[in-house]
Amino acid sequence: MYDVIMKKRSGGKLAGEELRFLVEGITSGEIPDYQTSALLMAIYFKGMDAEETALLTHYMAHSGDTVDLSSIPGIKVDKHSTGGVGDKTSLIAGPIVASCGVPVAKMSGRGLGHTGGTVDKLESIPGFQVSMEPERFFSIVRDVGIAIIGQTGNIAPADKKLYALRDVTATVDNLSLIASSIMSKKLAAGSDAILLDVKTGSGAFMKELEDSIDLARSMVSIGERVGKRMVALITDMDVPLGRAIGNSLEVAEAVQTLKGQGPGDLTEVCLTLAANMLVLADKGPLDACMALARDAVASGRAFQKLKDMVRAQGGRTDVLDDTGKLGEASVTGIVAAPADGYITHMGTETCGMASVALGAGRVKKEDAIDHSAGILLLKKTGDRVRQGEPIARLYTNKPASIQEAEAMLLEAVTIEVSAPAEAKLIYARVTADGVERY
Ligand code: URA
Repeated sequence: MYDVIMKKRSGGKLAGEELRFLVEGITSGEIPDYQTSALLMAIYFKGMDAEETALLTHYMAHSGDTVDLSSIPGIKVDKHSTGGVGDKTSLIAGPIVASCGVPVAKMSGRGLGHTGGTVDKLESIPGFQVSMEPERFFSIVRDVGIAIIGQTGNIAPADKKLYALRDVTATVDNLSLIASSIMSKKLAAGSDAILLDVKTGSGAFMKELEDSIDLARSMVSIGERVGKRMVALITDMDVPLGRAIGNSLEVAEAVQTLKGQGPGDLTEVCLTLAANMLVLADKGPLDACMALARDAVASGRAFQKLKDMVRAQGGRTDVLDDTGKLGEASVTGIVAAPADGYITHMGTETCGMASVALGAGRVKKEDAIDHSAGILLLKKTGDRVRQGEPIARLYTNKPASIQEAEAMLLEAVTIEVSAPAEAKLIYARVTADGVERY
């Protein structure tokens, strides 16, 4: 390990054998954390090329269990978001795609920090089971067309170890390390095709568009090298997506969107994600797939698919027919606009942290979350506001947190005299053929 650290410290390229030794040693615990941490810092400063990144990903993907989806007929399409605020797209795009006949076998994560996670959102539906034996998972995908579960314990254990060390050694935001971390889990999860939703902006990991594009390119290339069909979309996270932030609020908004009554930005992003997943599954060119996705919503088939999935995974579907039954938090508060003007910017990470303060997320992995806590944004970037007008409604069961969340939201929102330029929702589409900018 000393030699590996020294080689990377001097800017050398790690060979396949060295990366295999590294991943095996990290997984077994034979390599001590202090040496792994030193290597992570060397990688942070000296980087890794495409071949090193792909090999590291390969060994990480095989450091634990891998999922074999071959018993499910058809092209299985997975989706992964790099994480955002108000990002409930899996709950919408997944059922749309499944209702068009494409099987979705998805393993999702929980929220950490300012970002939410699909598994937490699904658990706000009473009875919903996110962990089950693989055979039951496969049989739901076969029968219903879609199942979403939490990541099983032994998927890419090397990533678990590396991520925990990156978190405490200031080495998270390195392109090769992020790409190998995400793609190792996706490759282990066994789908044939993967749609990546790479967020960009103030609520994303990658705040700058060019960095997001580079990350997308790297992940697409890793997947293509091992024969996966890959598309990455670069989507906006400079403002929370939709209006709801927080678990049951987001489930309600997902239902609204599947019924064709969701916010415009969320609807557009979900239809585009779904259409690209359908393209990956050979359902036709992008415009035809967009029409399929729209029809799945308009016909009610996509909403029915969500209900079928929820029922199959043990959840109550009456709360989807009437989302008022999801249960409201005991305390609500209003954030009022401090001035007249237009909202020109929203610090989206801070909006996410405000929802965490209300109880919707975790600061530490072990923290319990309050499914009914969160924020409903009444105004967003681009909207005109009058001083004193409500811009957000807060929900919590911790009355003391209202003041803190209100202060955070007021800090996050910039109000100016002139309206901002309209921002894009989707910036680029990245495939093996290159980058198409919109
Ligand atoms: N998500 C991951 O799974 N890993 C990273 O490194 C960043 C985001």
